[in-house]
Amino acid sequence: MKVSRTVRLKVRPETNSGKLAALEATGMWWDRAEAFYLEFFLLHMDMVAETPNNKALLTWAETQTVSTETHPTPLPGWNIQEAVPGLPVAVRRAVINAAIGAVRSYVSHLTRWGATAPQKRGRVPKPPRQRSHPTFYNGVYRVNMADFRQGFLRLKLFDGGRWRWMNLPVSAPPNARDLLAASAAEKDRIRRTRQDQNDRMRAEGRTQRTTDERNALRPRLWVAQSPTLVHQPDGFWLHVPFEKWVAVAGTAEEQRIHNPCLRVGTVDLNADSAVAAAWEGQSCQGVKTVWHARENAKREKALQKVARKQRQAGKPVKGEHSNRFLWEYIRNLDNTTAWQVASAIVAWAVATGISVLVFEYLRSYRPKRGLSWSRRTNRKRTYWLRGQVLRHVRDLALREGMLVVERNPAWTSQVCPQCSHLGERFSPDGHGYPSRFHCGHCGWTGDANVVAAFNLKKKWDRSFRYPTPDERQAADLRSARKGGAAAKSKGLPVAG
Ligand SMILES: [Zn+2]
Repeated sequence: MKVSRTVRLKVRPETNSGKLAALEATGMWWDRAEAFYLEFFLLHMDMVAETPNNKALLTWAETQTVSTETHPTPLPGWNIQEAVPGLPVAVRRAVINAAIGAVRSYVSHLTRWGATAPQKRGRVPKPPRQRSHPTFYNGVYRVNMADFRQGFLRLKLFDGGRWRWMNLPVSAPPNARDLLAASAAEKDRIRRTRQDQNDRMRAEGRTQRTTDERNALRPRLWVAQSPTLVHQPDGFWLHVPFEKWVAVAGTAEEQRIHNPCLRVGTVDLNADSAVAAAWEGQSCQGVKTVWHARENAKREKALQKVARKQRQAGKPVKGEHSNRFLWEYIRNLDNTTAWQVASAIVAWAVATGISVLVFEYLRSYRPKRGLSWSRRTNRKRTYWLRGQVLRHVRDLALREGMLVVERNPAWTSQVCPQCSHLGERFSPDGHGYPSRFHCGHCGWTGDANVVAAFNLKKKWDRSFRYPTPDERQAADLRSARKGGAAAKSKGLPVAG
């Protein structure tokens, strides 16, 4: 399966005005060429529909619009060299491919629209227009690692008179350098492999690659693709897509059934931490805890500040967002925390060689009564954060070929991971947070946080034993005797 990600490089705002003007001009030149080819393909929509192969379509379009040795005369009125003179070949091909993509999508929309009943199909699809996102193929884009370390890459840009190479200063995220270096090495490996394969094919008189040979040419590491220039209100950006192939051996359930030694990670997302356990078959290979209690405390402090300020300010002014900076701080804190927790889990899973990650279904938040506004809001956001973490994990894990599944969370934190009887949480010093778990049946005692992660493994194996109604009742009674939560909520008589 092919997976992708995008790294965004920002063209430094202090770039000299000549280069910025060249970026602008390149965009305009691109637009002219794209408008030309969009119009061309819209005139030849039947050809687009008949030719499923983009490469063949591009070659055909070039014979119609470019004067070459084999096809010296383009279609009358359709000479790109006259309409947009001096366009580098790499730019022309990028433009043609962009136009093919847009027109293809338009053709398929139109076909679907035509096949839908008139009362259901809505308005007729609009023909595509140029998107003003120049893409830089090899030949107009060069990244040299020595230059990139200094913060530069090279683009061939239109400076008003002609196309010429320019060094463009960019600011990149911290991982970009390593990604690009790895990408260059992987491209090199693929190039060498292709050469070897070609030699072998020639020697053996073959023209077709075998499946293994094709697989060997697929990128196993992130490989940078052609960047796209995007003009945004805050300046120019280069979006560099990266692609690679990951092997996913069927669905999670197929893997579970066919591979008894499958490495699985079970993860319990708590309010203050994420606890993950690694499994191979039935044996636990290790437990990893990612804490974010400190971030929760920071958020609560900020929320208390919001509450205090609101009390002091009295009624909020209508239409005015109060405490804007505090809320922004809280939002940033949440975003960073979610990414940090998710990437810590995935990094651990990759290092442990895990194929499937098992999470609990996240249930919605049920607020407890009697909490202050700041505490209630903090709990709510903590809950929401768990959803964000799960989403990020899903994203990051897939890039590594790892699957994420969810299981029913019922009883996972209440039953003993060893004998499946109902146990109890307690605090080691008799008061305070009940961080330990004890099973009255078999005597297992351990960290309460790992219980759910251990039990999730049983849910994954389908060997989880749910407590019987009798056991539930007995547990209720036990807790009632202690004056626990069950006694209050259910009004059970306190048996003496
Ligand atoms: Zn037990």
